[in-house]
Amino acid sequence: MATGDLLRNEVRAGTELGRRAKVYMDRGELVPDAVMLELFRRRLEQPDCERGVLLDGFPRTVAQARELDRMLVGLGRRMDHVVFLRVPESVLVRRLAGRLTCPSCGRTYHVELAPPKVNAVCDVDGTALVQREDDRPETARRRITVYLEQTLPVLEHYREQGVVSDVDGTGSIEEVQVRILAAIEAGCAAGDQR
Ligand code: AMP
Repeated sequence: MATGDLLRNEVRAGTELGRRAKVYMDRGELVPDAVMLELFRRRLEQPDCERGVLLDGFPRTVAQARELDRMLVGLGRRMDHVVFLRVPESVLVRRLAGRLTCPSCGRTYHVELAPPKVNAVCDVDGTALVQREDDRPETARRRITVYLEQTLPVLEHYREQGVVSDVDGTGSIEEVQVRILAAIEAGCAAGDQR
């Protein structure tokens, strides 16, 4: 589950929540915790989340992490594992600046690192690819600042729970994928003994 995708779906559907969230997203700011937690809770209640969930983009503040802990206790579940992808800021900026997204299906590409088969057109549905508003340079820089101020402290929250693996996030998509899978397998093995 990617909370950014949940929000972009709301924006596309023109809901009241989507309209309110877009103001924050376009500025590179975080959507308020109360709105985010409500959206997240509704998605977590869907049947496809019963066997387990991979979270992308959530929790992004310590308040969200604390509330998530409470929700998981209530459900008799736990956070098994957290993967911290280490990437230098210069690499992040290059990745964001070259990212292209399909406005129809949401699939992402990169002009150099993961280009579509046909220039600027989605491989899946043939829609013209666009740059996300918040990937434009000034907004992308703001998102990195917001991350350092509000999201990095979440890492400490999970380090205290002993569930974090540090993974080198540089290199190709395939290289990073292999490292993430190895970290999750090692983490799950350790988790089984907790
Ligand atoms: P992402 O697709 O994960 O880069 O998220 C895009 C934007 O959606 C972020 O810059 C925030 O404005 C908003 N967003 C996504 N997830 C969260 C979250 N957990 N808390 C607050 N805002 C979020």
